[in-house]
Parts: sequence; C-alpha cells; structure tokens
Amino acid sequence: MIDLHSHSNLSDGTDAPAELVRKAYAAGVRILALTDHDCTDGLAEAESAAAELRGMEVVPGVELSCLYGQQEIHILGYFLDPTEPTLQSRLVELREARLTRADRMLDKLDTIGIRLNRDRVREIAGQGSFGRPHIARALMEVGQVGSISEAFDRYLTSGKPAYVERMRLEVPEAITLIRRAGGAASIAHPLDYEDLDLPELLQAAAAVGLAGLEAHYGRYRGDQIDRLVALAESYNLVPTGGSDYHGVNKQGEGVALGDADVPIGSLTRLRARRDAAR
Ligand code: AMP
Ligand code: FE
Ligand code: FE
Ligand code: ZN
Repeated sequence: MIDLHSHSNLSDGTDAPAELVRKAYAAGVRILALTDHDCTDGLAEAESAAAELRGMEVVPGVELSCLYGQQEIHILGYFLDPTEPTLQSRLVELREARLTRADRMLDKLDTIGIRLNRDRVREIAGQGSFGRPHIARALMEVGQVGSISEAFDRYLTSGKPAYVERMRLEVPEAITLIRRAGGAASIAHPLDYEDLDLPELLQAAAAVGLAGLEAHYGRYRGDQIDRLVALAESYNLVPTGGSDYHGVNKQGEGVALGDADVPIGSLTRLRARRDAAR
C-alpha cells in the first residue's frame, strides 16, 4: 500500500516521525510520504525508522501553505532534498510567521476572556510548525470545547473570533522552491478549496512545472476521484494521493494511514517527472 500524505508531530500530527512510520507499516503501508506543513525536520527520523523495517520506504515530502488569489492552497512536494538552502530558509520564515500568528491568536482569545497558558500551548506544539490544531487541543484541555472541530467552528476558522491569517507563499514560488530542491509538486486536496477556479489554477501551475494533482485523497468518494484523475490526465499531471493522516488531531472517515487507494503507477510516474526535470 502507498500513502503519499501524512503529518507527524513536527507539524500538526500527533505521532513522532518514527512512531508514524511504524504505525503505517503495521497498517500495511510500504511507501509513506511524510508531508509536514512547512517543515522537513521529521524526515531524518522517519527515514531511519523505515531503514529498520523490511521493505519500508519513506518519500521525503512537505506540504507548503500557499496563496492563489485570495484562496489558500496547499502544495505537496515529493522526493525533495531537505538540505537545499533556499527551501530551508523559506521554511524557517514560514514557521517563524506561524509563531507570531499564534501569539496574535492567543491575544484574540484573551480579549474574549479565554486565557490559555502560553507555555502549555508551546509545549503542545513542540518543535516543528505551529498550527491551529495546537490551539484547538489547548482549548480542549481547559474544557472550552469538546473536540478539535468544535474549536475550529467556534473560534479558529476564518471569520471566527480568534482567526488570524498567516504567511503563505505564492503558488509559482512554492512550485519553484520544490523543483529547485529536486522535487515534484502536486496540488493537495483539490476539492477542499471553496473559492477556486481549479482549471485556471492547474493551467497556471502547470506552466511553472506542477507535476501532480492529489486525486486519490482518503476522504474523496469514488466519483470524485474519477473526476480528478481525468482532470489530472487532461493537464498531463500525475494523479497522486494519500490519507492526510494527522494522528488524533484529525478524526473521521478516510483519514487513517493507508486510507487511500494510490496506484503504484502514481509513484513511478511522479519519479519519472522529477527525473525528466533534472
Ligand atoms: P494552520 O496550518 O494553522 O492554518 O491550521 C490548518 C490545519 O488545521 C489543517 O492542516 C488541518 O490539519 C486542521 N484543520 C483545518 N480546518 C479544520 C477543521 N474545521 N477541523 C479540524 N481541523 C482542521
Ligand atoms: Fe494539518
Ligand atoms: Fe492540507
Ligand atoms: Zn496535509
């Protein structure tokens, strides 16, 4: 089984990278991409954990937060060299901006009378990319909400009292960064964007070297996947896929490790695209 989309506790997942790799293996996954938000710091640990497991492979990845017009878009990068300096310096900037934004979100919660302990919030977030799910967990801990999704619905999504925008890369820059680091770029969960002309984005992104479109996403139905595969092919993009596993930070249907039916051809084609671009 292949799963090309997962998060560790270096972003907003809850498993350490080695733990994530072992859980994936136990679930029958043999090729796992670790795609933390704006962070590649978990890759080394994931790769050494995979080296201990027979027939297990980790694809080095990332999920970049981007902006296309007013719409936030996530772009996945695969097979990238995490030591590439331009990529790393942008990732560091994105993560620093996430911390500043976290402070502003906590300030906003303060003003509506919800005082979270900042050290505790930092502790929940750990070393990697700070994200709203960490604030959601802190809200749960103090009993302000009963679930992560309630925290989002009441406080953390756009238009709600604690929401603050954060730094995002423009789509062409994100694709260029991934390519410069030797990687292949794919548009993540393409049906999750409300305000988007998808064909227009694909046209623009293909022109700067987009390689894939995430069609086999764990939460999508068969007919949605079929439509996305056809769309990918019509733009000469490789249909990629994965579960978008986040540990206990994301629950429901289709988000367990291996909860996506990704054909092996996706990976070989993606690799070929990357090699051709070199
Ligand atoms: P951030 O990166 O800080 O903007 O937080 C976005 C992350 O929060 C996403 O990657 C998801 O993991 C999670 N998320 C976004 N919306 C929701 C929601 N409505 N319920 C639960 N988790 C969400
Ligand atoms: Fe996430
Ligand atoms: Fe995403
Ligand atoms: Zn993701």
